[in-house]
Amino acid sequence: MNVRTLALNNKISDLKNIKSLLIATNNSGKLKEIKKLLPVKINFYSPKDFSLKEPLENGKTFEDNAVIKAKYCSIKSKLVSLSDDSGLEIDILNKKPGIYSARWAGKNKDFNFAIKKVLSEIKKRNKKKKIVARFICSLAIAWPNGNYKVFRGTVSGTISLKPKGNKGFGYDPIFIADGYKKTFGEISSSLKDKISHRFKAFNKIKSYFKY
Ligand code: IMP
Repeated sequence: MNVRTLALNNKISDLKNIKSLLIATNNSGKLKEIKKLLPVKINFYSPKDFSLKEPLENGKTFEDNAVIKAKYCSIKSKLVSLSDDSGLEIDILNKKPGIYSARWAGKNKDFNFAIKKVLSEIKKRNKKKKIVARFICSLAIAWPNGNYKVFRGTVSGTISLKPKGNKGFGYDPIFIADGYKKTFGEISSSLKDKISHRFKAFNKIKSYFKY
């Protein structure tokens, strides 16, 4: 059965036979983490392989934006596509940067700048010691006929007022998961891969892939 026929069948259980998958992201940090969670036998494609531009992410939720990206890539490439929309919600900032997590880093995708912005916004308001936050990840799988499935994973934690560590990507240096003392920027990637929002979302679709 070829990929196109699989896609048209549109059953998530068909992912057991999947040979090719487009990972709908240009974010190298996300790509690395997603690939590690998927079976090694799959041929991975990226939006660049099909010269795809980034679609306008104008959804109101992580799920909306994940579906926009996965559907766009799948329809254009005719491949089953997997997207990740994720971000950091900070309660004292009314859940910002949230779905705007990537945009807070500006056009140059400068996360040192985004982290400084987060910390300065917190300093303006913080009256408590513990700054409650969570990372959220929505993973969407879309088939070329327009159908899709979407899954969410969350990891709760707090914000470190001092960025620490240079592992990971994005906001990792300021996020401490509940039950840990070190930031995601300080812990090993293998530990992050066991507790992260991405891992938890992935756990919900893992059984549909053949390892
Ligand atoms: P988007 O999903 O492409 O809109 O981008 C989400 C942004 O959230 C990323 O660019 C990161 O800055 C941030 N983000 C998502 N997941 C993680 C993570 O695991 N660690 C650190 N930052 C993350």
